[in-house]
Amino acid sequence: MTERSQARAGDLLELVRSGRATTRGALQQATGLSRATVGQRLDRLFRAGWLREGAGGPVDSPLGGRPSITLEFDDEHAVVLAGDLDTRHARAAVLSLTGEIVAEHTGPLAVEDGPEAVLGELGGWFAQLLEKAGRPAEAVCGIGLAVPGPVDSESGRVVQPPIMPGWDGYDIRARLAGAFGDRTGAGPVPVLVDNDANLMAYGEQRAGYPDSSAFVLVKVSTGIGAGVVVDGSIYRGIDGGAGDIGHIRVGSDALCRCGSHGCLAAVASGGAVARRLREAGLPAASGADVRDLLAAGHPEALGLAREAGRQVGDVLATVVTLLNPGVLMIAGDLAGTAFLTGVRELLYQRALPRSTAHLEVVTSRLGERAGLVGAGALVVEYLYAPQRVEERLRAMGV
Ligand SMILES: [Zn+2]
Repeated sequence: MTERSQARAGDLLELVRSGRATTRGALQQATGLSRATVGQRLDRLFRAGWLREGAGGPVDSPLGGRPSITLEFDDEHAVVLAGDLDTRHARAAVLSLTGEIVAEHTGPLAVEDGPEAVLGELGGWFAQLLEKAGRPAEAVCGIGLAVPGPVDSESGRVVQPPIMPGWDGYDIRARLAGAFGDRTGAGPVPVLVDNDANLMAYGEQRAGYPDSSAFVLVKVSTGIGAGVVVDGSIYRGIDGGAGDIGHIRVGSDALCRCGSHGCLAAVASGGAVARRLREAGLPAASGADVRDLLAAGHPEALGLAREAGRQVGDVLATVVTLLNPGVLMIAGDLAGTAFLTGVRELLYQRALPRSTAHLEVVTSRLGERAGLVGAGALVVEYLYAPQRVEERLRAMGV
């Protein structure tokens, strides 16, 4: 038996979902399985409700003969809940299995209030959003959550976060799954927790740069963080600490929220720019206020954003030299022309020409929704990975 002929139901679903094979004939050709075996495996996927016949009608078969019925992933059989916590506000959404936002809410929510209060409030938002979307709690197949701190993705726990007091080691997964999954009687739904910059990078790479094999996103809001996607997967490092560039010491007396002095985030983040604007007598409490001043073309804010961009660009020269990415995306409250100009000035001056020859430096496409889209996509990829499809079908008795 050849390797190709061992394709499982999950492998067939993967071929259909990715659009690489969408008819029985194309699946036979891609897998080397017989028509009867393809039929048996597809039958399991139909019975699970994960596959449906396409609305477009029959198409020509690659094997010749009668036209074939097209197959497609049934993206309505379940929904995903996604949350994105920033330091002072949060977003929550119900997403379809193909990543469309079905219902969305955003509001003030401070991570410093601790996990009990924050996750309790978020759970309430999720319940209201499901009602708005007209879907029962039983339709939820998984939950994705972006948090502004380092995460151990195995356990879903936040690890020694510099700016999330009370969250260190807290069992986020148990708290959220307990509120949703047990109602189905099928056990708790999976809850995947990851760093916000990681999930933004994942969402942006999949949505806009699916062919980029080395993608870096830098989020500059109240803090600074980076997410790295290599060969389509988030690169987290061994302790989930990869990309936490905001606390690299760049040398200065400025006090950082983490308690140290001279971190990059203490001199070049939205929070740092807001502080300098306040010192100049302007009303700016957070990165979001700086964003508003930048949008209004305020000269003092533009000058400080460009200077912050230069300081971040200096650190990014090292990042780009180490990773040689194809795309460097700047996202967050400060991401705009002034900041980008500063980044480019220092980046191209300090990095080796070979590291930047084919580099695209761009701004966000998904904007404030990037974290939600990334969280939703991570849950779907987890649940419909071929091996997990097999396990889930067996658990369903299909
Ligand atoms: Zn710091």
